[in-house]
Amino acid sequence: MDHTPAEAIDWTDAGDEHFTGKVRFGQLSKAPDPGLNALGVLFEPGARTDWHTHPDGQVLYIASGAGKVQKDDGETVHVSAGDVVYSPAGETHWHGATEHSYLMHLSLTTGGPTQWLPDKVSDEDYRRG
Ligand code: MN
Repeated sequence: MDHTPAEAIDWTDAGDEHFTGKVRFGQLSKAPDPGLNALGVLFEPGARTDWHTHPDGQVLYIASGAGKVQKDDGETVHVSAGDVVYSPAGETHWHGATEHSYLMHLSLTTGGPTQWLPDKVSDEDYRRG
C-alpha cells in the first residue's frame, strides 16, 4: 500500500507548449510508462489542451467543474462532475474547461505518451457546440 495525502501531490504547471490557458498536472500513478498513467488535470476557465490522440485511448473522469470534449469532426460534448468520456485509440480530440468554470478531470491512459498535433484549438473551434 502506498498512501499519498492530498497535500503531498505535486501539482505542476503544464506550460503552454501543448495547452492554451492555465493548466496544472498532478501525477497520481507511480510508474506511468509502460503501465497505467493516472493524471489529475486542473484547467482554469477557458483553458484547454491542443489537438491530440492517445495510442491506447483515454478515459476521462470528470471530478469537478464543467468542460467540453470535442472531436475533429466537430462533435462536442459538455461534461460535468461524475461524467466519463472515453476516446478510442487514435481519435483526434481536445478537452478543457468552459469559459466560466474550472474543470478537474482524471485522465487514465496506457500505451505511452500523448501524440500532440501541431495545432492549437482555435477560439472558433473552442466556442463551437
Ligand atoms: Mn485526450
